[in-house]
Amino acid sequence: MMEQTWDIIIVGGGPGGLFAALEAARAGKKVLLLERKREMGVPVRCGEAVGKEDFANYVEMEPRWIGAEINTFIMVLPNGKEVMLKRDLYSGYVLNRDLFEYDVAARAADAGATIKMRSNVVSLIRDAGGNITGVRAMELGREREYYASVIIAADGVESRIARQAGIATALKPQDIEPCVQATVSGVSLPEQALYLYVGTCYAPGGYAWVFPKANNCANIGLGINGKYSDKNNTARLYLDRFLEKHFPQASVQRYTTGGVPVSMNLKTLAKDNLMIVGDAGRMVNPLNGGGITHAISSGKKAGKLAATACDSPNKMKDLFARYEKEIAREFGKNHEHQYRIKDVVYQLKDEDYDRIGDEILKIDVSKRSFLTIFKHVVKHKPEFIIDVVKAYSGI
Ligand SMILES: Cc1cc2nc3c(=O)[nH]c(=O)nc-3n(C[C@H](O)[C@H](O)[C@H](O)COP(=O)(O)OP(=O)(O)OC[C@H]3O[C@@H](n4cnc5c(N)ncnc54)[C@H](O)[C@@H]3O)c2cc1C
Repeated sequence: MMEQTWDIIIVGGGPGGLFAALEAARAGKKVLLLERKREMGVPVRCGEAVGKEDFANYVEMEPRWIGAEINTFIMVLPNGKEVMLKRDLYSGYVLNRDLFEYDVAARAADAGATIKMRSNVVSLIRDAGGNITGVRAMELGREREYYASVIIAADGVESRIARQAGIATALKPQDIEPCVQATVSGVSLPEQALYLYVGTCYAPGGYAWVFPKANNCANIGLGINGKYSDKNNTARLYLDRFLEKHFPQASVQRYTTGGVPVSMNLKTLAKDNLMIVGDAGRMVNPLNGGGITHAISSGKKAGKLAATACDSPNKMKDLFARYEKEIAREFGKNHEHQYRIKDVVYQLKDEDYDRIGDEILKIDVSKRSFLTIFKHVVKHKPEFIIDVVKAYSGI
């Protein structure tokens, strides 16, 4: 059995792991990133939408990462009517996430990180005293052991590394959204609009999305809340019905499935010499399921602090406590509010959405903001404000 020693091992090469590797390698550390897939960035299990400003906070956009630029946000009601919000209220991108991840991996490798594909981490290695010293991986049927001072779990929603370290990661059914997405071609859409289909008829406890890409391609998918999902009501069944009804002309190039955690952040994001980033730490906006930029941000923070911890092992505990604090400062309160609001929003019935939408349609499009929507929700469902107040105050 082969053994190798590193400063930092990162398990998982999604945006969280890749940015952790990039930062740690740039800080001069000996970094190993292990990814179980055979090709970096592929398959893309993602709608690929990111807010422009949000993304720019963490990374400078490269033209080849842009699948489409977005300046319009359209909500489609259960009755089929389209409610366009005022232009530029939302500006974002639909990424070419495969190219994005490939390029970030190349940057990390240029900075000195070693990246190994088809390396499936199966367990943590502990010494006789119970301290985590490394990871065990299966590579083409062979077991390999790798040792490091710090381990970063960036292994996504299905993370087993955090669980093996003794951190409670189980998700309740209502805190996970099974999602399925079809990447389609042959659909003609205005390239600059994101479409969100809201209501239980499309996706109970979630929503359906239609995100355009170049050349009449689009990501069309949906997520339903785990509590509504069973063998007769799968996300795939909802998506098949959705495509048949709304995009019968679409040619499906590929389907992808995946779970999105719509829970609170994990409270424990570092333990002993292990740090957790991105989806593994449940750092996803529970209202809209977006987690790319959260993964990037947490990956960058973890990579930097892990590198510092390698230089000053006696300060590791403080540095890791700082990581948890920085994450709490960046996402904590927002995340908590989004989590509570999610429950309230998903109680809206299809007729509520239709009624509210009809009212918003009477307003001039240049005046339609998220606040206008909120005001109309409250007008038509006064009890909503009570629920929201309860949600915010945690009563
Ligand atoms: C269908 C769908 C649509 C989505 N749409 C959007 C969207 O439009 N916008 C948005 O912001 N977010 C979206 N998300 C969420 C977003 O994809 C995640 O939040 C983001 O990818 C999290 O990044 P990550 O690096 O934490 O995890 P991941 O991207 O999941 O990466 C984890 C990596 O770890 C690897 N791995 C796992 N276990 C092991 C192991 N044992 N050994 C080695 N490697 C391992 C995996 O192969 C994977 O490459 C969507 C998610 C889904 C499922």
